[in-house]
Amino acid sequence: MTERPVRMRIAPSPTGDPHVGTGYMGLVNLVHARQHGGQFILRIDDTDRTRYRADSEQQIFDSLRWLGLDWDEGPDKGGPHGPYRQSERKEIYDQHARLLLERGGAYPCFCTAERLAEMRKEQEANKASKRGYDRRCRSIDQEEASKRVAAGEPHVIRLAMPLEGSVVVDDLLRGEIELKQDNFQDQVLVKQDGFPTYHLASCVDDHLMQISHIVRAEEWISSAAIHKVLFDAFGWEMPVLCHMPLLRNADKSKISKRKNPTSLLHYREAGFLPQAMLNFLGLMGWGGPKTEDGGNQEIFSFDDMCAHFRLDQVALGGPVFDQDKLRYVNASHLRALSPADFADTVRDYMLSRERLIELAPLLQPRVETLGEVVGTADFFMGDVNHYTPETRKQKDLNLRQLVEGLVPKGQEPQDAHFALREVRERLELVSEWTPAHLEGVCRMLASEAWTGWKARDLFMSIRVAIAGKKETPPLFDTLSQLGKPRSLSRIDQAMRACGEPGKKALKKWEKQRRGSAADREAAEEERRQSGGA
Ligand code: GLU
Repeated sequence: MTERPVRMRIAPSPTGDPHVGTGYMGLVNLVHARQHGGQFILRIDDTDRTRYRADSEQQIFDSLRWLGLDWDEGPDKGGPHGPYRQSERKEIYDQHARLLLERGGAYPCFCTAERLAEMRKEQEANKASKRGYDRRCRSIDQEEASKRVAAGEPHVIRLAMPLEGSVVVDDLLRGEIELKQDNFQDQVLVKQDGFPTYHLASCVDDHLMQISHIVRAEEWISSAAIHKVLFDAFGWEMPVLCHMPLLRNADKSKISKRKNPTSLLHYREAGFLPQAMLNFLGLMGWGGPKTEDGGNQEIFSFDDMCAHFRLDQVALGGPVFDQDKLRYVNASHLRALSPADFADTVRDYMLSRERLIELAPLLQPRVETLGEVVGTADFFMGDVNHYTPETRKQKDLNLRQLVEGLVPKGQEPQDAHFALREVRERLELVSEWTPAHLEGVCRMLASEAWTGWKARDLFMSIRVAIAGKKETPPLFDTLSQLGKPRSLSRIDQAMRACGEPGKKALKKWEKQRRGSAADREAAEEERRQSGGA
């Protein structure tokens, strides 16, 4: 393999809150790029339009910048291999799909959804050992297939995976990984609507953007064989592959927002320092720089990491995203600040003049002396103490005992968990974060009988979740001022404090939800038919 200039990339999808895993991958890729005088590229993988969320891309930019993980090339910066947003590269994927068809590396598949459903049913009935697409269209002669495509027959394009043997990929941390042909499917590369899938878009971009190393999370290992076959089919050189260990909850399951805050915005809003967050992410799979006595220095800076980190020495045992450890790392960085830096940091976090001007209309009518300002505005300025040293000691203590109101009389903590979950899901979709919009969304939910919640109780529960107390300025002004990331992360926190609901209860709730969604659609349809806008 030829030595190539080092070009690293991350390729997050704008489908939700910016994930700590994106920060982790950003850190490792940037450090490796800096160590080798290379470039760090940010690409936005936004081909999945069904999961696309409009404000997500900006949040990815903001949270990476907050961490100090700045990129050399990206959608907002441009660069020699742009555009860096996949939705703007459709032409390029079309061209490459055609090229692949000509080279025989892929084929059009005309099977309809009904035929595929039929096939699956048969496979199930015969208890077939091999499931998935049966490659019927692979045997259609190329000329005939081209004619049908030209005639406009609906089709997808599938990758022709090897029919025997195995595919071997080399992973920097894991050595050779052999993926057996038995497990292969002829993956869809271009969907019926003409949009590429992740596999095609990602490989074409990695090649055209001259990416030298693909460093990404372990969950993509199974895609590596597909990507190897694709690179080979195009006749391109495969970048160095490196699959990093997955971040885990304390119980070793894959990190999830039900058990751990996973949004980078949460940590920014909760007052973690970016340098501490980087330090903590750097500890995932690495012990820190070696000390003279053979131990590790746990508290370090980005520059220390650039000087000492080795990508090929990352440990594969699932690193735990341990909140206590994070707080310890944060406290260490906080204490290392000079008094002047501490003062500036605190001011920027909670006491900027701009922020106080925004809050003034909510505070002025509610205080009679300046001495009352801090007590009234505490939850705007700092974190809500859903998570205190005491609650950590008593793991099972739920918020009902801590803050009255989150779980109203007659409801169980699990009910509050579900109600807040519903609130969260709906608020997540609100892009105009104004009191009027928020009120509309919450009132609509409160009016739906299926939740079994009275509006008064629901609103109180939201209030306590975001503010930690029952008296606040009007709820929707408060939500609006608090901002979307903070409000959502506090609702998450309150949900966790209510405890994880049981599976049975979850099923019941889901069923009620589905029923209500169907009712809403029917009502909407009726409204449309009766001439409503
Ligand atoms: N869009 C994928 C993600 O969100 C990128 C995976 C990769 O790095 O290839 O993780």
